[in-house]
Amino acid sequence: MIEGQITKVSGPVVEALGMAGARMYDVAFIGRLKLIGEIIRLEGDRAIIQVYEDTSGLEVDENVVCTGQPLLLELGPGMLSAIYDGVQRRLPDLADKYGDYITRGTVSEPLDREREWEFVPEAKPGQTVGQGDVLGFVQETEVIKHLIMVPPGMGGVLAEVKSGSFKVSDTVAFTEDGAEFALSHKWPARVARPVVSKMDPNLPFITGTRILDTFFPVAQGGYSIIPGGFGTGKTVTEQTLAKWAQADVVIYVGCGERGNEMTDVLTDFPELEDVRSGYPLMKRTILVANTSNMPVAAREASIYTGITMAEYYRDMGYDVAMMADSTSRWGEALREVSGRLEEMPGEEGYPAYLATRLADFYERCGRAVCLGSDERVGSITVVGAVSPPGGDFSEPMTQNSLRISGAFWALDTSLAHRRHFPAISWMKSYSLYLDQVEEWYSDKVNPEWKSMRDKAMMILQKEDELQEIVQLVGPDALPEFARATLEVARMLREDYLQQFAFSDVDAYCDPTKQYLMLKVIVTYYDTMQEILVKGVTLKEALDVPFRPRIARMKEIPLEEAAEQLETLEAEMQSELRKLIRY
Ligand code: ADP
Repeated sequence: MIEGQITKVSGPVVEALGMAGARMYDVAFIGRLKLIGEIIRLEGDRAIIQVYEDTSGLEVDENVVCTGQPLLLELGPGMLSAIYDGVQRRLPDLADKYGDYITRGTVSEPLDREREWEFVPEAKPGQTVGQGDVLGFVQETEVIKHLIMVPPGMGGVLAEVKSGSFKVSDTVAFTEDGAEFALSHKWPARVARPVVSKMDPNLPFITGTRILDTFFPVAQGGYSIIPGGFGTGKTVTEQTLAKWAQADVVIYVGCGERGNEMTDVLTDFPELEDVRSGYPLMKRTILVANTSNMPVAAREASIYTGITMAEYYRDMGYDVAMMADSTSRWGEALREVSGRLEEMPGEEGYPAYLATRLADFYERCGRAVCLGSDERVGSITVVGAVSPPGGDFSEPMTQNSLRISGAFWALDTSLAHRRHFPAISWMKSYSLYLDQVEEWYSDKVNPEWKSMRDKAMMILQKEDELQEIVQLVGPDALPEFARATLEVARMLREDYLQQFAFSDVDAYCDPTKQYLMLKVIVTYYDTMQEILVKGVTLKEALDVPFRPRIARMKEIPLEEAAEQLETLEAEMQSELRKLIRY
């Protein structure tokens, strides 16, 4: 065992000598309290270690013991419903044992060691299995069947496959060569789990939020970011997505947000019901919580802990959504540690490798053919909140995230002030996935989806241009067709884009209802333009009382949407056309 001595302590970073033989990213226990740390630099027998716990009180000459292993996560049944910290310690466990303040140097088992799981074998003795092949399964929760697979890099001819009740570390199968497979295995958090191949991101990740799905879709396996200043709705958006987006498994990483917000997440989530299954949402959720009063280095680890768990469920063929709130705190952790290491700073003190780290992380999402079977496809979609100081999007974390993300959902402080929620700007946001998901929408929703979406976007952009003229000369100076455009744009904003996250009926809007609602508004626009040309005045057109019915579209329950919206569209068109004097 490699054992050295502390020579220097600088915030979350500790220097130790006598560490020859240790490897980069090995985990070490530091001092008499056995604080957990990770070696992040090695020079001869000198190691620099980032420590995941508060280092105050550590003294020079205390021992540092290298475990010879990287930061390993234990992956197996029992992770769903769990609340972990950044290094996979179960927070409720720690709270039970130590009360509200976690004592330093505390360890907790990532998975319940005593709980028994009913293992149903699928593989047979004599069968040759390779990495990713399914040995059997356990029903982890009411909604998730947990496949027990041969871990990456292993395989052989099966000598025995058991059946019955087992604990997570019990062997359920072994090979003729003596390789054993248990219900759980360990995996280094910083290493991406392998897949057979990555696929094109051409399926949409349906969120149920109209502005996202219709205007700035993210693909399944894609990466989107939500930058926004304080109070603009990052957390509400992340939580709405966690609740409603079409994902089998949700990993919610609260990375150093203010402590009280994380408390809200930890108390709210366990009470939420999964609308699709009727069971608690936690049955398919894992929370990873690091608040800002936990040490900075632990935040950095929590992102990797989250994505590794996401990969594990992806390997079973599930669509996983990972929400990271907020990745800025992760960037700050990198900055702090880099500063302590006296590295050459890049922009605004962030390390020069910030962009590479973000890109490496991004590489781990995607839709992929999983090891073991060509038919097993899983995906990891990441939605990362970014909190730029002062809402200034030109800062390095936002800019670097922007370069690698496929969808950019810009939160706008002025919209939030006007209580337009979600406060996502339709002028500043963009999506690179639009062309890729178009085919799905054309097939499953309507062939006109893209043209309807483009037309609505055009109306919103026109409004933006017209607003400048209105500010100079007032709306009355505009021609009637332009005022009609403003009227329809207002409808789009208020009756389509605004979506109250806490509404029972409207928090989730399915793609078909979205399309039909949009079609009503776009048809209204087209009919207005048509009748204005034929001599109808704007006042006459606006006097036909359709506006309130359009405003109530959101409240129509999904099952009645198709019928009611189609009727509304037809009636509106015929009523407006009646105004034409031939
Ligand atoms: P941030 O995480 O960006 O600081 P929050 O997500 O906490 O901001 O949002 C601040 C407030 O804005 C919320 O408490 C809520 O009242 C309101 N809000 C944000 N998004 C929505 C939404 N989609 N629907 C309704 N209210 C919202």
